[in-house]
Amino acid sequence: MDLNERLRKIEEDLSSKSEAIKRRLHETLSQDDRRMAEAFEKSGAGAVAVNPAVAAAMPRPDLVSARVDLSSAATLRMLDGLMESAFEVGRHLGGSMQAYPTTYCETPREYAQPILAGMPMPDAQREQVLRQMEATAGQDPPAGLLTSLGVHIPGVGCFINGWRIGQIRNLSPREVFRVPEASAQVLATAAHEKWGHGFIAELTACGKEKQSVQLGMNHLAAAFGLRTVDTPAHARLAQQWEILFHSSHYVEEGFATWVERYLVESMADQHPHGKTLLRHAPTFEVEAIAKALSRLPNGGPCVHQLGALFSPQAPLSVDGIHAALQRLIAAAEDLDGAFAQAVGMPAPYAIGYCLMDAIARRHGPKCVPYAVATACNIQYDLAGVSNQDLREYVETHPSLNVNTRLALQMYFRSETLDDVRTFLKRAREELGLASPKT
Ligand SMILES: [Zn+2]
Repeated sequence: MDLNERLRKIEEDLSSKSEAIKRRLHETLSQDDRRMAEAFEKSGAGAVAVNPAVAAAMPRPDLVSARVDLSSAATLRMLDGLMESAFEVGRHLGGSMQAYPTTYCETPREYAQPILAGMPMPDAQREQVLRQMEATAGQDPPAGLLTSLGVHIPGVGCFINGWRIGQIRNLSPREVFRVPEASAQVLATAAHEKWGHGFIAELTACGKEKQSVQLGMNHLAAAFGLRTVDTPAHARLAQQWEILFHSSHYVEEGFATWVERYLVESMADQHPHGKTLLRHAPTFEVEAIAKALSRLPNGGPCVHQLGALFSPQAPLSVDGIHAALQRLIAAAEDLDGAFAQAVGMPAPYAIGYCLMDAIARRHGPKCVPYAVATACNIQYDLAGVSNQDLREYVETHPSLNVNTRLALQMYFRSETLDDVRTFLKRAREELGLASPKT
């Protein structure tokens, strides 16, 4: 057999092996979907145990028995595997998300209860809020908290609102896993919550600091319009959260949206319902956003600011980038709901996605989580700093503003893509951004 012949044989052999692997994977995933559906059918309330870490965080264990722990489902384990292999999070950040649970909730109460569990309010008030929320479940849309499809609870894990995902499609929460469209939404939501918001909270410096002062729960309380207790300490925390929220919102939602798309895209080839998966993970481009906004009667300023920030003619100075981003955020806020109507998602998701995408193009996608960890590599001494100082720091010091720290990383270009160590070194030396612990 001559060399060409041998090479051809090897190629054939490899291609049939890779087909076999793909087939096996496809079968495993289909079995997994079936297994999940069967587990629900057999379960009845209380038959499937909730993850012990989640149960431990609940003050009322009698209320949690019907939740289903999805963490060991093959499709979700595949998400984790992709994250570990594509980004080597364990290797470069020295932390792990392995113990982080993903829980599927079948009723409004199951979903709302863990969110309310950590909020500073008396038990009687908590129960009253839950009852009020349950009462809105028949309306379309239901109350604020119940319209969300998933939530990351700092220090606890992520919860998927199976009840709402089913309600939108007229399915029971147990039928959701039998319908590709609906089960794809579960997966995309889990990617967004766990590997987007969960990653920032568990593995970055300012995420961890926010958790340590209970800012995470305040964030949820404010995001869902839940009234908690009125004390000066709480008012101080609520204001602190608002200041930090504003200076990191584009990084939070931008990264969660980007990583959701990245993971779903990576799975789409191997998943039995790949195309359906992609429909649930949006993607954005600066040009398309500008075009959509230019059709709005008052979209001009936002289009102009998009051009200033994303223009290839940059670099601006560090102060110039900070000012351009602040102006863009203000212009998008002025558009209010019209932005999401024109573009499909609110500005922090869509423009935040574009910031991540620009970094992926210039440094390789593997560098994106590290750009985020670098942007979030700040500690504010939240227990000691006054709110007035904190506001001034994030507004006037570009290096203390998470959104700006991320945007700065768009303006240099790596010679070799996906080279994390060199990328971090250059961000440190050229932008003065300390590297996250590696
Ligand atoms: Zn989000």
